[in-house]
Amino acid sequence: MGFRYGAATDRGRVREGNEDNYVSGERLFAVADGMGGYEGGEIASQIAVDELAQVEQQGPWAEPAAALEALRQAFKAANAHIRDHASHNHALKRMGTTLTAVLDSGQGMYLAHIGDSRAYLYRNGQLTQLTDDHSVVQQLVEEGRLTPEEAEHHPHRNIITRALGVDDHVEPDTRPYQPRPGDRMLLCTDGLSGMVDDGALQRVLGRVRDPQEVADELVALANAEGGVDNITVVVIDMDGAPDSVGGDTGRLSATPPPPGRTVQVEDRAMATAPQVVTPEVQEPPSPDTRARARRTRRQEYRGERRTWRRLFTVGLVLGVIALGLVGAWRFVDSRYWVGIDENTGLVTVFRGLPVEVGGVRLASVEEQTRIPRDQIPEPWVGRLEEGVAQENLEDARRYAQCTPLLGGAGLGECLQGRTGQAASTTTVAPTSAVTGVDGSAPQARPAGLTRA
Ligand code: MG
Repeated sequence: MGFRYGAATDRGRVREGNEDNYVSGERLFAVADGMGGYEGGEIASQIAVDELAQVEQQGPWAEPAAALEALRQAFKAANAHIRDHASHNHALKRMGTTLTAVLDSGQGMYLAHIGDSRAYLYRNGQLTQLTDDHSVVQQLVEEGRLTPEEAEHHPHRNIITRALGVDDHVEPDTRPYQPRPGDRMLLCTDGLSGMVDDGALQRVLGRVRDPQEVADELVALANAEGGVDNITVVVIDMDGAPDSVGGDTGRLSATPPPPGRTVQVEDRAMATAPQVVTPEVQEPPSPDTRARARRTRRQEYRGERRTWRRLFTVGLVLGVIALGLVGAWRFVDSRYWVGIDENTGLVTVFRGLPVEVGGVRLASVEEQTRIPRDQIPEPWVGRLEEGVAQENLEDARRYAQCTPLLGGAGLGECLQGRTGQAASTTTVAPTSAVTGVDGSAPQARPAGLTRA
């Protein structure tokens, strides 16, 4: 098989540098579109084409399968080389490249491809895309969720799903191609296919005879359309091959591999959506993935709701408990009672309740009289030791100072508030208690109580 070819690469009208590369040899042709920043992309695509160029030195091959294997291994070697290079330079860690190659084994040709650069076949006036873009929009097109026309304007059209340099494991799509005389193959980066539609490509390929002129014209056409990306074109004309070879229809993905050999052929729908490669390489969301993601989001949402409900319930319970404790404390704190202080043996007004809860005494000394235990009539001592509840502090004070009269004639008067009078006139013990040691005059408000 003899070839005539033409090749052209151009920076385009927007990019500052050219990250594309290509190979055009005797039996090997390829285009590579680097990514990962200007420097990284240029290096990655250069490594890829350099690695690939070595394949040509290995031929010709006795068995076509050996040529295919050499092509596959060149892709893997390029991938490893790019990753190794990136691992030693932080600035290049995101670099990668597409690579679309065609190799003549001597007994037929093979295509190998990864990324969204393309191979087209122009045969009998018809243009057929031989490669499937490894891109998000291409997957959406294959899933029937986007039309090729919608894909052209899709916001994710620039995201490719496979490239060299991205993952340790790489496996290019490969397929056989049996050339016919008069076949014209076009390899290009997305700087061409993203700018020029298939109809225009077909017209140029059918009109211009010289392959180099074809390449130059296609580059010019892409630039005329805006030239937003680097543009690389390789055009290969097949001649000299017997017409009986092949018999394929041009839809090479449907061509069965030669007998006795296993060739990875993917028979997927062709798409014509132009792509623009960016440094971003992501796995596209498949319907399964999206469904899983939706399920996960729903589960997370429910989990969050459950958590919030639990937190709310716990908060509510704690709030109720706190309110209960506050209420209980306020209740306890508003109670007064009269008893005998164990420490001093004096009649004392206590605040709280005359009980202990869990070893905690719910009472504190509010005021203390100077009335000792032995001034309390004997039958009432036990009662006072248990504590006698009173309605309020005023009552408690009055009761405390009247305790020496418990069971006696003057108690009623004393408790009815005529304490001062009673104390100063008839009641000896309370008087002495309420007037204090200094013998000051008795008061309407009982005296003789000291703040604890
Ligand atoms: Mg590009």
